[in-house]
Amino acid sequence: MTVRDLAHFESWLTDRGAEVLDASSEREILRARTSTGTHVVYADKTGKQRWPKELLAIVSDYNAGRTPSLAATKRGGAARRKTRGRYVALTKRDGPGCFYCARILPAPGTHSTPDDEVTTEHLVSRAHGGPDHVSNCFLAHFACNQIAGHLSAPEKIKLREMMRGAK
Ligand SMILES: [Zn+2]
Repeated sequence: MTVRDLAHFESWLTDRGAEVLDASSEREILRARTSTGTHVVYADKTGKQRWPKELLAIVSDYNAGRTPSLAATKRGGAARRKTRGRYVALTKRDGPGCFYCARILPAPGTHSTPDDEVTTEHLVSRAHGGPDHVSNCFLAHFACNQIAGHLSAPEKIKLREMMRGAK
């Protein structure tokens, strides 16, 4: 059994609280940290995929339309840690540019300076009750997010217009 739309499955995992991690070899097609551990899907030379049975259990929830909570009990990273699934979903929706400055964002793990690192931000902050869902998220450079700090949603929009106008 495989998943037809891997990017969709990845964003579903992320929405359920799992973390989609960067692959550590080119044989890996998916690496995810979930409530049942970290699971890796491998593809052999012929492209045949090997799915671990713990992940297949999650896939059957996915295919059945269930919405389990998959957050790992020990979160492996801070807010800056980016999940590939969310990056994929957000660039698909918004394109490859930063929410604030519109410059192209580097893919996760490929930034040349810390300021350029791609980060996920919440339009309405978590502290103000904003949901941790892609509908409330956008991608921006680390440096641009630092400028935005703890602004309200309308102030973030204003900052975006200013930064884009000032180009
Ligand atoms: Zn930016």
